[in-house]
Amino acid sequence: MKILIVSSEVAPFAKSGGLADVAGALPKALRKRGHDVRVVMPLYAGIDWEALEKLDGALDVPMWWGTARGAVRLGRLPRSDVPVYLLEYNQYFDRRYLYGPPEDGYADNLERFTFLSRGALQLCKRLNFIPDAIHANDWQTALVPVYVNTVEWGQPLHGAATVYTIHNLMYQGVTDGGALFITGLGPEHYHPGEFEHFGSLNLMKAAIRHSNVLSTVSPTYAREIQGGELGCGLDGELRSRAGDLFGILNGIDEDEWNPATDALLPQRFGPGDDAGKQAVKLALQREAGLPADPGVPLFCAIGRLVDQKGFDVLAGALERALDWHLQVILLASGDKELERHFASLAQRHPERFKAFLHFDNALAHRLYAGSDFVIVPSRFEPCGLNQLYSLRYGTVPVVRAVGGLEDTVEDSGAPGEGTGFKFREYTEVALWGAVSRALAAFRDKAAWRGIVDRGMAQDFSWDRSARSYEALYQRLAG
Ligand code: ADP
Repeated sequence: MKILIVSSEVAPFAKSGGLADVAGALPKALRKRGHDVRVVMPLYAGIDWEALEKLDGALDVPMWWGTARGAVRLGRLPRSDVPVYLLEYNQYFDRRYLYGPPEDGYADNLERFTFLSRGALQLCKRLNFIPDAIHANDWQTALVPVYVNTVEWGQPLHGAATVYTIHNLMYQGVTDGGALFITGLGPEHYHPGEFEHFGSLNLMKAAIRHSNVLSTVSPTYAREIQGGELGCGLDGELRSRAGDLFGILNGIDEDEWNPATDALLPQRFGPGDDAGKQAVKLALQREAGLPADPGVPLFCAIGRLVDQKGFDVLAGALERALDWHLQVILLASGDKELERHFASLAQRHPERFKAFLHFDNALAHRLYAGSDFVIVPSRFEPCGLNQLYSLRYGTVPVVRAVGGLEDTVEDSGAPGEGTGFKFREYTEVALWGAVSRALAAFRDKAAWRGIVDRGMAQDFSWDRSARSYEALYQRLAG
């Protein structure tokens, strides 16, 4: 099949979250399955422009004010021949941030991502690449399926099947209704059947209405977002398309996340190699300034300090849990108040708790590899990668049973079963409960071995997920 994937971020070119990982890994997995996959993203500042091939000629993109004359650079996804077309228009993308400074989007984001969405389709026509399926992601490329049904009406691209994936429903691309003209579409599109949602313009709603099929990144999140609590105001829309909404789990990029080959570890190890993992643990304890002791259970927690991730519950729970015989290492940054709280907790418990309050990918690798447990207490979690990496590295997840965490961790409720420990209520008490069950299992060496081995044997390869996406594309193309 011919497949076009449009994304505002693609690893390793530009990344702010899990979307980039998906857009960087899924195309490679589809390519391995024999498809002609191409990826389109913006050319941002911070990308190595010189390493890219500059295509001849301009790329003309119709905008509300006239024609934007852009250019196109071509790169490849690492260790693959998958082409990545980076749309160059410096006025929009040669800026410090992808979307704007933290907490604040750029005022012209609608215009910037109109250019990307419309530009991706213009590029297809220029390359004479008419895809069987066009796959758009999140609010930034929500206009793609809308354009396929409107400005491309009756043209070859109109025949492409459209797939729209929601990676996080919280960010919907909401702005004032008066801004619709920026998309180049007329006021007849501003009504509750397309862009209008409770008095505002909502890009995600328009994509939900216009796409042939919808997906999100885990089966449980696909169900949760059809309810009021996690539906973020679009639950009714999603319920009305329940038959076209699929949950497909993200995979792991095995080139980057494999304990047997990971160059970022002081020592590599495979399943059953307890000594190798212990060596990473001891090095990690030393690095964190904690007593180096293989017998003490070591927990880690990694993530953005934002409401979604549940670090407030973790902070509360640690106040008591740090009196127990355990160690905890945190790697997280974001909310300043929480950062201060964790820093003060580390001062009060220097033997038990270490807080690294910045972003450090190499340290994240060492933490997934050297810890005994990872804690993921999220309020909601569309898929979540922490628990997937941890399972792969023989580190047992203690997670809240929501979204992708519910789907990928099996509770070790009885001897001989499960890969981790889950709790349901969003409370400190519930988290303690799961941590104490985890500690009990840690002391029972035979049971522990079983939990670790079962986790390491799980298949979260992208190949598996790619087959599910392929089935979606094929179903539509058929
Ligand atoms: P989200 O996309 O919502 O942030 P995911 O669990 O899908 O959550 O992905 C988060 C990714 O970012 C993981 O690979 C995690 O290891 C990484 N990460 C988050 N915070 C940090 C940090 N402070 N340092 C290093 N890696 C981090």
